[in-house]
This record gives sequence, structure tokens and C-alpha cells, in this order.
Amino acid sequence: MIKEAQLYQPLADGRVRCTACARYCNIPEGKVGLCGVRQNIGGKLHLLVYGKVITGHIDPIEKKPVTHYMPGSKIFSIATTGCNWLCSYCQNFDISQRRKVEGTDMMPPEVANLAVSHGCQGLAYTYNQPTIFMEFAHDVGVEARRNGLINIFVSNGYDTPDTVGMMDDFLDCITIDFKGNAETNFVRKYIGIANAEPIFQTILEIRDKTKVHMEFTDLVIPEVGDKLEDARKLSRWLYDNLGPDYPIHFLRFHPDYKMMNLPHTPVKTLEEHCKVAREEGLRFVYIGNVPGHPWEHTYCPECNSIAIKRYGFDITGWNLDEQNRCASCGYQLPIIGGLSSAVSEERFPLNTDSQYRLAKHSVEEASREQNSVLRRTFLYFPGSRQHTSGHWLAS
Ligand code: SF4
Repeated sequence: MIKEAQLYQPLADGRVRCTACARYCNIPEGKVGLCGVRQNIGGKLHLLVYGKVITGHIDPIEKKPVTHYMPGSKIFSIATTGCNWLCSYCQNFDISQRRKVEGTDMMPPEVANLAVSHGCQGLAYTYNQPTIFMEFAHDVGVEARRNGLINIFVSNGYDTPDTVGMMDDFLDCITIDFKGNAETNFVRKYIGIANAEPIFQTILEIRDKTKVHMEFTDLVIPEVGDKLEDARKLSRWLYDNLGPDYPIHFLRFHPDYKMMNLPHTPVKTLEEHCKVAREEGLRFVYIGNVPGHPWEHTYCPECNSIAIKRYGFDITGWNLDEQNRCASCGYQLPIIGGLSSAVSEERFPLNTDSQYRLAKHSVEEASREQNSVLRRTFLYFPGSRQHTSGHWLAS
């Protein structure tokens, strides 16, 4: 369905200025913006992907990655075609760089109902940049919230005050994904944007004008986007502007799309990034895409015991009480919501006495098995790759 957009301004000569992202495309009559989904038709901007869903999956919330909001929740993830970034390393390039509008017709109530009928606790708008289809995301999100679901954006943060202004109506949580430490030469060469400044502005807007929970990622790309001084600068900015408690996840790169020539990020490089972030005062620093690494866990900042134990996207141990205080020392962790019922109590007994109890199988084994059921695709369109590879997905 094609629907008139909300985020634009009419200009002289029949042109329009799109205000959905920081590119602010100036679009002549008949033309489409860089993202491929917003077209000037008769002097009015239209969203070409309203109700066009290209893919849908059920994932654990940890895959977004979100670790401090409703842990263990089962999330229905959707996307449309198109993107406002041109990332050379994109894992979802078949969706994000597709400039042909495709997908299954699904109006907002249908999307919300599908999530509910599959027992999900929330919806994620991911795999491409959600603000390019903000008007559709908004309507789905409002419907989802009405049905008791949470809404999550997996976003590059390259937004505007206008897009942030629509968030509080429906959005609960956002992951803002930096790449290559947000270093200017990197973002120019490998993303196609002038600089990362609009991302920082978006974070401040969200902090000041919404109640949306934020988490951050940084995709560390070896040789071209892995400088520790840049990671330090980024970490310091987060600490100075948000304080110590917002989670940051340093993600391992794997070769994809136009960057097949580079190796996987060495684990040592990720560990060095984490060390730098901790030195700058950030207290919840994670490594992503290295299953089994000790920095997948949440540690209590007070006594350093493991508060939430993880393996990949799975929760394998829970050492918090009902108010999310550390079961070892009583420290209040900044985690919103308890362990989701999607993580079966039979398989995963709640722990209140600091002992990680095991069910019939080892908890790790059981949780991995459960997650393979959660991580399934049930909307899959010809020409799309499956997005269930177990890698963290780029926005
Ligand atoms: S959302 Fe699309 S059309 Fe609008 S400014 Fe961004 S790239 Fe351009």
C-alpha cells in the first residue's frame, strides 16, 4: 500500500524535503529518496512500504541485542525493504539495499495479531533502518502496545527530532548501533554519511524527550574500524552524556557483502575495546557474537558476581531477586523487567540463593535447545536470505 507520509515538508517547484532521517533528502516530483521507499508523488511525499513486510522472525530479545530490558522475551522481528545507509559490510544487504519494493501485504493489526498468536512479548523493527518506514512502524507499534506488546527499534540512530518526536507513542526500547567506533573516515567510506554527529544528537533527543530505554552496539571491523582511541572517545561521550549504566555491546564482525576480504574481528581486539570502555567508566560492557565468552554475562558492579549468565542469545543463569537486586550482595541492577516466562521455569529454575541450579539437562544445553525453537523464520519471501544465522544482525 502507498500512503502519504507524515514526515516531510513541501518545497517550491513541487519538491519535498523528507524529515524521516538525517539525510533530509530534497526530492523532485516523481523521484524516490535514497532509501528507496519514500517517493514524491504530485508534490506530496508517500511511503511505498506501508503494510509491506519483507521478512518476519521470532527471536529472543538478546539477539537484538537487548540485555537490560525484559530479559528472555520472545520477540517478533519485522522489516521492509530499503535503508538510509549504504553499509559495505551489511549482513542484511538483500533486504536493506534492495531498491524494489517487495513483501507481503500486512496492515498494522495483522502484524500485531501475528505476534500475539505466536506468544511473543514484543515486536522488533530491524534488519533495515526502521525510521525510513516510521509512519508504518508507528501504527504497528500503537496497535502492538494496545495488545500488551513492547516495541523495539534496532536502529542506526541517524534520525531527526521529528522521528524522535513520534517515538513515545509506541516505542519502549532502542538499540543504537555504531559502526567502526563512529570514526568519521570510516563512516564516510563504508556507510556513505558525512559524519556520525546526527547519531549523537538523536541519543540526546531520546534522553531528554522520551522514556525509551537505550542500549548501544559498536560493530568493530578489523583493520578499518577498530582503533582503540576511537572506542575510548565513543565510550567517554556515552559516559559524559548518559552516565555509567547504559549497556554497550562490542560486536564481532564477520565478512559479508562487499567486505569479504577482511577477517573476523580478533577476540583480543574486542576485549581491548571492552577494557577501554570500562576504563572510561561504563559498567555494563559486553562482547557480542562470540558465544561462550565471559563478557556475554552481566556482572554485578558491586561484588562482581555473575548476575545474569548467558551463552550466545540464551540466558543460562539468573542470580537476581524479584526486584532485580544482586542475589549475592543486594545491589540494585538497572535492568527493566524480570526474567520472561518465555524462558521455561521447568528448564530454568529461578535462583534466589546464588546457586545456579540445573534442571534435568544442563541449563546451557536446555536453553540452547529452546532457543533453536524460538529462532525460527515464518515469513520468508523469495529472494530473501534467511536471517537466522546466529550472527548479530546489522541494522
Ligand atoms: S528516510 Fe529516505 S527519503 Fe527520507 S531523508 Fe532518509 S534516505 Fe532520504
